[in-house]
Parts: sequence; C-alpha cells; structure tokens
Amino acid sequence: MLSNGILSDQLTDRHRELQARAADHFTPQWLDKWRTSPDGHLRRETWQDLAANGFMGVSLPRELGGQGLGLLGALVLGEALAGARDGGIALAMHVQNEIACEWLVSARDEALRDRYLPGLVAGDLVACQCDTDPSPEEPTTATTEGAQVVLHGRKKFVINGATADLCFVSAVLDGAPAIIAVEKSTPGVRVTEVYDKFGTRSVDSAQVEFDGVRVAAEQIVSRSGISQLMRWNRVMSRMRLLIAADAFFTHRALLEHITGYVRGRTLGGRALGAWPVNAHALARARAHQELMEAGIADAYLRVTAGGSTVPEIAELKWFCVEKANELAVLATDLEGGAGYMWDSPSLRAHAQLRGFRMSGGSQTTMLTIANHSMACRAELELAPSGADGARRG
Ligand SMILES: Cc1cc2nc3c(=O)[nH]c(=O)nc-3n(C[C@H](O)[C@H](O)[C@H](O)COP(=O)(O)OP(=O)(O)OC[C@H]3O[C@@H](n4cnc5c(N)ncnc54)[C@H](O)[C@@H]3O)c2cc1C
Repeated sequence: MLSNGILSDQLTDRHRELQARAADHFTPQWLDKWRTSPDGHLRRETWQDLAANGFMGVSLPRELGGQGLGLLGALVLGEALAGARDGGIALAMHVQNEIACEWLVSARDEALRDRYLPGLVAGDLVACQCDTDPSPEEPTTATTEGAQVVLHGRKKFVINGATADLCFVSAVLDGAPAIIAVEKSTPGVRVTEVYDKFGTRSVDSAQVEFDGVRVAAEQIVSRSGISQLMRWNRVMSRMRLLIAADAFFTHRALLEHITGYVRGRTLGGRALGAWPVNAHALARARAHQELMEAGIADAYLRVTAGGSTVPEIAELKWFCVEKANELAVLATDLEGGAGYMWDSPSLRAHAQLRGFRMSGGSQTTMLTIANHSMACRAELELAPSGADGARRG
C-alpha cells in the first residue's frame, strides 16, 4: 500500500519497520518450512514462532499487550503475508488478530479478556470463528440452564477449525443472536471433517460440531440487541476490508507477473501483450487496480473516522475480489496451456482468490448487504423531519 499517497502518509516509523521486517519474513520458502506436508497446512508451533518474531497483536492497543499499530498495521502485515503466495495464512491471521482479539477487547466481561487475550497474542492459543451453519433450517442454538449455557450445532468450512483451541461460536441464544467463547477441549466439541481444498491451503478448514456443549454463562462474549449487531458489523467489516486488501495484493502481484509474461511471449510476429485485445484487457485490469487502491484508502479513512462503513466495505470486498478473480481468469488464458498446469503462478493465484469469494461472506451476500443498507439509508433520507428538525422513520 505504500504506493498509495493517502495511506503512506499515515505510516509511522514503527509501521515502516514492521513493513520491512515482514516483507523479508513471509516468502513461499518460509511457508514451506512450516507446513505439515508439501502443500499442507501450517504446524501448530508456527503461531508461537509468529509471536516470537513480533507478528501477533499488531493492531491491538499496547496497554492490552499489542503493538498499537491499529488497522494500518494490519494492512501492512497483510501486504507482507501476500508474499507467501497462499491466502490461508492471511485469513487465519485476520481471524486470530482482528476477529478473536476484537471480541475479547470489547467483551462485556473483562475476565474473559484476561483469560484468553494474552494466550492469543503469544500464539499459545489459536482461535477460530464458527459461523456457517449447515443450512438455515439447522441453526446453532444455545439455551441458558442456570449458570450455564448449552450449545447444539455444527459449523462448516471454519478456518483453523482443526488447529484452534478456542472457538468463537455464533448461536441463537434463548432466541436472540449471540457469540459464545468455547474451548475446544470442552466435552461435546468435535472436529468432524477437515476439508481438502483448492487454495488457501496453508491453514486447515474444518467442520466443528457442538453436541450438548456446556459452558459457563460468563463465556458469552456478546448477546442480542443493537450492541450485538454493532459489534458484529464492526468485526465483520474489518475482516472484509482486510480480505479486500488481500485480493488487491494478489491482483497487483498477478498483474505484474502477467504483464512481464506477455511482453516476453511473441505470437503472430509481435509480443502477446501488444495485440490490442490483450493490451485493452490489461489496461482495464490496471484501472481496476487503481480503483481498488483508492477504495481501500477510502474505507480505511471511514473506519478510522468511526463512521458507518457496512455497505461501503461490503461493496469494496465485492469489487476487489470480483476484479481480482477476473484478472486471474484472463492471466491463466494468456499463459495458454501453461496456465492449466499446477505450477502456473496465475492458476495458483486463482486458487487463493476463489477462497476470498466465500470467506467473510459470499460475493452475493456482499451485494445483498450493500443493496439493503443503501436502501435503508435512502429511506431515512426521505423521511420527513419533525418540528424540531429530528428525522423520523
Ligand atoms: C476460504 C474460506 C474460508 C471460510 N472461513 C470461514 C470461517 O472461518 N468460519 C465460518 O464460519 N465460515 C467460513 N467460511 C464459510 C463461508 O462463510 C460460507 O461458505 C459462505 O458464507 C457461503 O455459505 P454456504 O457455503 O453455506 O453457501 P450457501 O449458503 O449454500 O450459498 C451458496 C451460494 O448461493 C448464494 N445465495 C445464498 N442465498 C441466496 C439467495 N437468496 N439468492 C441468491 N443467491 C443466494 C450464496 O451467496 C452462495 O454464493 C469460509 C469459506 C471459505 C471458502
């Protein structure tokens, strides 16, 4: 993001130091060193190593044990993580550092924060976010029984679901939405499937079952009402902004790769990239890249200013992920048959980008959120003002 004037102006010396250190650290060779098997996911100890090297709790305030580098720090780290050429590690780091830590920082019960936050920042604990129910007809439910909460349900495709020690589970608690922190070692929690997948392979994706799991009511991180909705929106918008940036970083690397490739490959007497059909397609991709960068900078400013960001960030995630996927399709075509071979950089990038389509909510969901929120805003704008000038509706 350094090339973006708005964001680069905001970088402090500490951001720049992180940027330089992380860029050297996260390479495909680094990733291979920590995998359980060739092309497999990361070993559990990687998390402690990440902490030992100063890559955990980057955005977290210093008084809570973090590095105090805020959302910009998370973006700087995301940029470096893209150098590993596998989107899984970035997704898992966002879940751990942005979602799980944020739930704890804003938890109603400070004891929860004290119990888990130091472990997350040290990499001794790994977290996952369990949201996706098998279907709307099979929601994860929880009921209060005295001083305990009892959970029933299953969650699919959970990033780090197999490795994690701590699950943040979304559930319908006594009829209203809630987030509950559940330790993986609690009786009734089971990993029922670890998926084999196309991209983002550096972290596991698993199905996790909660079968009559009993936890203390103090493990409720957030429950019902407007504050639950606002916290959910804040956490998910932050995650979506970081995924939009991940897509942008992948797009940027891919465009650089394919531009070099089409310059060097001569077909029909001229460079492949000089044929107007290809030159125009790549010019469009360059325009998309600039729009993505501007959108990310704008969203960053909105988030840090504390304004409403839900529809704007949903649109941004949709746009960045959509355009990066389009470029991946173009780039694999431009590579010809080589673009179908598994060592093709374009095909590898495409595999990561397919994962970004669903993580943080599907592309269709992004459009639904944007559409719905914008329609609500328009309705509020149209509502007549009362005598005191206050809006009704
Ligand atoms: C890489 C990756 C990481 C993920 N990480 C996590 C995680 O950490 N935790 C977690 O809980 N989940 C995670 N997921 C799951 C992800 O959030 C879901 O896959 C996604 O929300 C879609 O839900 P689904 O798979 O049940 O698809 P479905 O709900 O079956 O939807 C299928 C398709 O239909 C579309 N659709 C749905 N309803 C409508 C409608 N009314 N009209 C038109 N189209 C519709 C959807 O947008 C989607 O494209 C991850 C998924 C991937 C691929």
